[in-house]
Amino acid sequence: MTAGRPPFYFHAVYLINLASDDGKVNPRSESTLAGYLAAADRLGIDGVIFHVGSHRGTGFEAALPGITGRMQRALERADPKRSRLLIENNAGAGDSVGRRFEEIRAMLDALGGDQRVRACFDTCHAFASGYDLRTEETARQTIDEWERVVGVDTLEVVHTNDSLTGLGSNRDRHANIGQGEIGEEGFRALLHDPRLAKVPFILEVPGFEGLGPDAENVAILRRLAA
Ligand SMILES: [Zn+2]
Repeated sequence: MTAGRPPFYFHAVYLINLASDDGKVNPRSESTLAGYLAAADRLGIDGVIFHVGSHRGTGFEAALPGITGRMQRALERADPKRSRLLIENNAGAGDSVGRRFEEIRAMLDALGGDQRVRACFDTCHAFASGYDLRTEETARQTIDEWERVVGVDTLEVVHTNDSLTGLGSNRDRHANIGQGEIGEEGFRALLHDPRLAKVPFILEVPGFEGLGPDAENVAILRRLAA
């Protein structure tokens, strides 16, 4: 974060798939990601949040070298001086990569602890992937698990979304804060977790008017953070 202003992030298009074996998708995904990163760096944007994509049945282990190789080359091409690549955890639909915290750890490890790569924790995706966040206790346990597996030092940003669908549903359906299956208690716990005190929380919710993140969702978070 730069002093005097809030952090800014790009969110890369969902078309990116670094995990595919498809020879056409790969180079385009890699160059798209490099393009975002180079632009972010020029504009003073703090990072580029992206979804790794789907391995389409080959399995995570088999896809891992390809994924991290493409990330490495995107970093080389963009050569960012300040912007970071931020791997977002996934809801777990299909063969998507990043549903388990261990997969994020494995990608960070394969990149040799490159400081230009960190992670984004999406509450809806974690919940859909089976990490409970509904109570003070389960929210703390999920952040304990993230701390143990990924490490809070690599947690750059939280995507703050309730989930329309249930725990472990593997569906990526965001809901307004407190209006979904996670509910207010879990968000209150996250907002009070000292490990997340310096981490920006970004809303990606449908909004009460259906127009996206709105003042009402912010007001709910402020009330829960009080
Ligand atoms: Zn997200």
